Amino acid sequence: MSKKILVLPGDGIGPEIMAQALAVLARLQRDFGLDIEIEHALVGGASYEASGRPLTDETLQRARAADAVLLGAVGGPRWESLDISLRPEKGLLGLRAGLGLFANLRPAVLYPQLAAASTLKPEVVSGLDLMIVRELTGGIYFGQPRGIRRLDNGERQGFNTLVYSESEIERIGRVAFETARKRGKRLCSVDKANVLECTELWREVMTRLQRDYPDVALTHMYVDNAAMQLVRAPKQFDVMVTTNMFGDILSDCASMLTGSIGMLPSASLNAAGQGMYEPIHGSAPDIAGQGIANPIGTILSAAMMLKYSLGAPQLAERVERAVSAVLDQGLRTADIHTPDTRRVGTGEMGAAIAAALG
Ligand code: NAD
Repeated sequence: MSKKILVLPGDGIGPEIMAQALAVLARLQRDFGLDIEIEHALVGGASYEASGRPLTDETLQRARAADAVLLGAVGGPRWESLDISLRPEKGLLGLRAGLGLFANLRPAVLYPQLAAASTLKPEVVSGLDLMIVRELTGGIYFGQPRGIRRLDNGERQGFNTLVYSESEIERIGRVAFETARKRGKRLCSVDKANVLECTELWREVMTRLQRDYPDVALTHMYVDNAAMQLVRAPKQFDVMVTTNMFGDILSDCASMLTGSIGMLPSASLNAAGQGMYEPIHGSAPDIAGQGIANPIGTILSAAMMLKYSLGAPQLAERVERAVSAVLDQGLRTADIHTPDTRRVGTGEMGAAIAAALG
């Protein structure tokens, strides 16, 4: 039975990079037996312009009814002065919450052809292939109580609550162990168990879960050390699992190891295996409309969708190989261009990857 995909191009470079991911999917449909039905809808600023809201109930319903959502990026200066509830980014948060996307998978892979584009020494990063599994709907970003209150002495005090229940830790833990099982079978759980009781429980639950995954080697690391190790020797990691806030920070740090933000995909999954897939970058208003954005993060997001929501891992690998082949040919968008390579625009990069599928 054909799978249903909801495509949300969004704002800024979103529609430009999405067009290239759709060209790759169209080729897979035409020549490699991919059976999908694609629907389109608006999100973010584009949705606000059409309906006065960054995410309509109808779009959320269509997202829930789809097997997967493929998103470009949202946001832009035009909507920055709106009330926070109407800003494009609220549309994204509404989708994450509305679909219950509790597991965020962010790979950081350095293509060997781009080793010179990283800010770290090539020998430190070449061959890097790690996956960060971040809890996305709990922890300190959502914990209650929260706010800014006035103390008896008149001074104001800001406060947030770091809270995780055992079941929340267990479900993200299982995603991480399953992910590690399909890769190098090594999982590093990142916490601050020496200071925070909440992550002491995190460590205890991860340790208990390991009994169900005897083939996966589990280690624990404090978050401050993990940040240092990511920059010192990132290749020691296979899969890392951590809380919402620690994951937010560590995954951005890991993304920079790979050279350009334009290269990296992400997946956010719920308990039913339904997912939303998007590049990790934003709508890049500074380059929107110029045809120079790198579409690879979006194309690799489509590859993650093939693997995690559409049950087509072979097609995902085909896409990844095509990206690598095009980098081998020396084609580069502006963000990864070096003097010895050929600079191409968004459309030419997308077309070359679609052509390299086989
Ligand atoms: P950004 O990721 O949009 O851009 C940061 C820098 O990276 C810019 O110089 C941009 O030109 C460059 N860049 C980003 N993607 C690129 C690509 N594919 N190819 C080449 N270069 C690329 O972050 P920002 O400038 O901080 O934010 C711009 C807007 O995007 C804001 O409105 C922000 O709220 C929004 N945003 C959205 C998301 C999302 O949709 N998931 C994520 C982050 C930021």
